[in-house]
Amino acid sequence: MKSLSREEMAELLKSLSGKILITTHKNPDGDAIGSSVGWRNFLKKLGKNVKVILRDRIPYFFDFIPGINDVEVREEISEEFDWVIITDVSEAKRTGFESLPAKRSIVIDHHITAEPFSDYYIVEPEISSTCELSYHIMKLIDESLIDRNVALPIYTGIVTDTGSFSYTNTSPETHHVASELIKRGAEPYLVRRNIFERNRINRFKLLELVLRTLEFALEGRVAHITVYKRFLEETKAYPEETEGFINYPRSIEGVEVAVFFKEIEEGKWKVSLRSKGSVNVAFVAKRFGGGGHVMAAGFETEGNLEDIKKDLFRELQVEFDKISKL
Ligand code: 5GP
Ligand code: MN
Repeated sequence: MKSLSREEMAELLKSLSGKILITTHKNPDGDAIGSSVGWRNFLKKLGKNVKVILRDRIPYFFDFIPGINDVEVREEISEEFDWVIITDVSEAKRTGFESLPAKRSIVIDHHITAEPFSDYYIVEPEISSTCELSYHIMKLIDESLIDRNVALPIYTGIVTDTGSFSYTNTSPETHHVASELIKRGAEPYLVRRNIFERNRINRFKLLELVLRTLEFALEGRVAHITVYKRFLEETKAYPEETEGFINYPRSIEGVEVAVFFKEIEEGKWKVSLRSKGSVNVAFVAKRFGGGGHVMAAGFETEGNLEDIKKDLFRELQVEFDKISKL
């Protein structure tokens, strides 16, 4: 495992030969899809042999991204590759694949809880998104290759990971990169219209059910919501249509941490955490085997929901106690 600078990563990517696999984390979000497809389009222009394979289905509203139709979704990867590039994730198990058959591996990521398992990696926890980091590396390789097909997916990932340029990870540099991407052909309203203005009515039916589960804990500092599998069946909504629901409990005055419990299957839960900044939810998630960022993190766990809540709220109480001592 070797940590590389942006310049070293650019040199390495330029020199790659043979068959290159690109993948990202399961339940791919805008940054995961934008970075993997952005790199695919960029490396193809550079004359490389690249293929993107993901474990989980791509949400329908990303279908406007150039090159998305060449992404394969599979349960396993059997053929051998010379290289694998893993974006927006640093833990092998989070790709969802049992194995990544490649001679050498590269990680490009921005999570503070990153634990790179690859031969080479670059992790910049301060940067807004894997897409913003990728743009800087691409520029060092050959900026003339950053055309609309590259700029659009990269811009999309920056928009989704920064909450449309409003989260604390948005820096002057983020806006500067966005400006350059727009100059290279990314259309801000095309991205907005696709990502945020194509809701299906099923999503609202699901939201109605989920908001009824709203509850508070730790004297109103924690608000939590739950989606049960049966809600998805009842409303015929897709799992990815819960994206953004956690912003409702977080938006409540006095709430410091919002929690979203998602039933994956019986006894199996995905837990999303959002903070307003006082509590570092990445460290809390890490204690449950997950990870993420200061204000957005998550983990997967098994068991009874009431027990999971008890364990999680106890850990959150520890964090609140730390703050009150400051
Ligand atoms: P979300 O709650 O939207 O799924 O994820 C929020 C953030 O936490 C993302 O940056 C995501 O990568 C990270 N995250 C969510 N779930 C997990 C997990 O199970 N493991 C790790 N390491 N990170 C996670
Ligand atoms: Mn990301």
